[in-house]
Amino acid sequence: MSTATLPGLESLRDKVAVVTGGARGQGAAEVRLFRDLGCRVVAADVLDDEGRRLADELGPEVGYRHLDVTDAGAWGDLVAATTAEHGRIDVLVNNAGIFRKAALDEWSPEDVRRMIDVNLMGTILGIQAVAPAMPRGGAIVNIASTAGIRGYGAALPYSASKWGVRGVSRSAAQGLARKGIRVNCVCPGAVDTPMIDATALDVTRLPIPRAGSTDEIAAVVAFLASAAAGYCTGAEVVVDGGLNA
Ligand code: NAD
Repeated sequence: MSTATLPGLESLRDKVAVVTGGARGQGAAEVRLFRDLGCRVVAADVLDDEGRRLADELGPEVGYRHLDVTDAGAWGDLVAATTAEHGRIDVLVNNAGIFRKAALDEWSPEDVRRMIDVNLMGTILGIQAVAPAMPRGGAIVNIASTAGIRGYGAALPYSASKWGVRGVSRSAAQGLARKGIRVNCVCPGAVDTPMIDATALDVTRLPIPRAGSTDEIAAVVAFLASAAAGYCTGAEVVVDGGLNA
């Protein structure tokens, strides 16, 4: 029986990865998979109890760090601490995000700003802070959404933030390619995490009639972060069970 794995995935061995929103949901699955593929991983989140529990469970290759992705100073601290411990960062997954479903007139300006701040500004701040810590090149994967490739009338600011994430990804891909940094984007559809409850989506109507698993998203993220995707930059991979087919 062949024991071959996807050529290029082994490139993640000994890499240093930072995953935001890494305490639970998709982020936690990405932290686990990167660890399994041989990375040292920093899981960053605002959910300290869950983050620390995950790090304890996954062992010495995984550390947890408190990070509010909207805080530029905190990003600086994370990069300084990670490079002091590991020398550099090779992979950044900008996964942290918030969701809210509400009619247009139920969004206060503060609610809208918060949505844009976490989902879009958090992604920009992460790229600004981490790209200089990738002296040997690296890979950045930003988590957008299918709400970033179509309208989402019941969650307008969320949709706007995720369209923005795609723009950031493409622009950063252009700006960072000559530094050896690839930047790609994953657009999940309905994924089985605490966030999906808030969408109230009927997943049985999808062409693949179920929610995606966190492992199915993590697999695509790991592929994009690895040398297997060495010629991919500025790409968007839709992982949505056919929602947009
Ligand atoms: P989740 O709510 O389980 O995870 C989101 C994580 O982000 C949480 O751990 C949360 O604490 C963290 N977070 C929120 N605000 C933060 C901040 N300011 N700083 C740091 N961390 C913060 O949901 P999930 O499904 O795992 O979401 C992961 C990503 O996938 C998000 O960007 C989300 O928008 C996107 N997404 C989710 C779905 C879905 O159906 N679940 C679909 C498309 C896209």
